[in-house]
Amino acid sequence: MSFDATREAARRRDEADPLSSFRERFALPDDLYMDGNSLGPLSSDAERTLDRVVDEWREQGIRGWTDGDPPWFEYAESLGERLAPLVGARGDEVVVANSTTVNVHTLVATFYDLLEGTPKILVDELDFPTDHYAVRAQLRQRGLDPDEHLVQVESRDGRTIAAEDVVRAMDAHDVGLAFLPSVLYRSGQLLDVERIARAADERGVLLGLDLAHSVGVVPHDLSALGVDFAVWCHYKYLSAGPGAVAGLYVNREHHGVTPALAGWWGHEKGTQFEMNMEYTPAESAGAFQIGTVPMLAAAPLEGALDVVEEAGIDAIREKSVALTDYLVSLVDERVLECDVGTPREASRRGGHVAVEHPEGDRISRALKERGVVVDFRPPNVVRVCPAPLYVGFEDVWRVVDHLRDIVETRGYEAFDTRGGGVS
Ligand SMILES: *Cc1c(COP(=O)(O)O)cnc(C)c1O
Repeated sequence: MSFDATREAARRRDEADPLSSFRERFALPDDLYMDGNSLGPLSSDAERTLDRVVDEWREQGIRGWTDGDPPWFEYAESLGERLAPLVGARGDEVVVANSTTVNVHTLVATFYDLLEGTPKILVDELDFPTDHYAVRAQLRQRGLDPDEHLVQVESRDGRTIAAEDVVRAMDAHDVGLAFLPSVLYRSGQLLDVERIARAADERGVLLGLDLAHSVGVVPHDLSALGVDFAVWCHYKYLSAGPGAVAGLYVNREHHGVTPALAGWWGHEKGTQFEMNMEYTPAESAGAFQIGTVPMLAAAPLEGALDVVEEAGIDAIREKSVALTDYLVSLVDERVLECDVGTPREASRRGGHVAVEHPEGDRISRALKERGVVVDFRPPNVVRVCPAPLYVGFEDVWRVVDHLRDIVETRGYEAFDTRGGGVS
């Protein structure tokens, strides 16, 4: 069957889409919001649970810790239980706590301390920078030179990381811990997590994952694969709000270890308020909390999870793959001047697509001026994220139509070349 690039075909696909009605629950401030991999929009569900916690605070004051519904004291654990199926974990292996970067610090430090001697930590050269900042800082804290103790897997094409190269690097160096993303933030490649987990397990290498670009759009299977730990944020695909509390997973095998960044909120719950000077970690991922759960940064996640549970993560992934397939085909067919930097096999793709053009920065600004919210990642990537809960096929068609017009008419030339800023 040949590819049908008409707008009418896109409309027909929206009509057949079982998730199409979910968009009514989201506030979309722009015509075409294609940036849900950076900041998901507000849903009425997230707003409802945030409002409820504010009401509880107003009406119950400190009693909210025990009388909130659910009680605030165990809110982080209860959200963790609901998140667990999204990452393929058992309920006590997940908790919400801290920020993603803080979770990288505490988990990398804790797991490194479990190792004998001073082995190397494996990362890759296309990582989101905060991961490297945190890992390097943790090596320095131990008096180790990060340039010597960090092994960076190199990319062959500047876009992707081959699992084979990860495995080879494990064998070529004295690697004790590997910390890798599920989906690369720029190109959108989904790494072969299963193969990497198997290789790590066979070599006795501890494995941690950063799921920031996959949680809520790609299902995971962390427990069954024996992944040791993972971190992620909730403000991207899960739409829990800017700076929402982050999430983490620790395999049951490691419960009971003392976290590197210990704090009273990770203490065993039953005796936390006995206020002992001696720290007893919770026998769960909850031990990796540090201070008090930030209720107002956690409450929107509760409603956001209602939406995702109702849609179902498998249906979300299925629509995401259909949308990104469609986007890639349309760019190939209609915008010959642009390259697609994202792998074409669906099994190697996360939820966004990297559209490459040397004028990517100015093109992304021209798109924004037309109400198409995308972002630019240097040197040449326009990231386009058709998030399945509030983007449809006709939206994708219109985005590509704008892109084609801007590229063909050189509409981007009206914008300055520049650098810096938030996007
Ligand atoms: C978005 C993102 C982060 C963000 O970290 P914060 O501490 O929430 O600012 C970390 N890692 C990756 C891979 C990301 O995509």
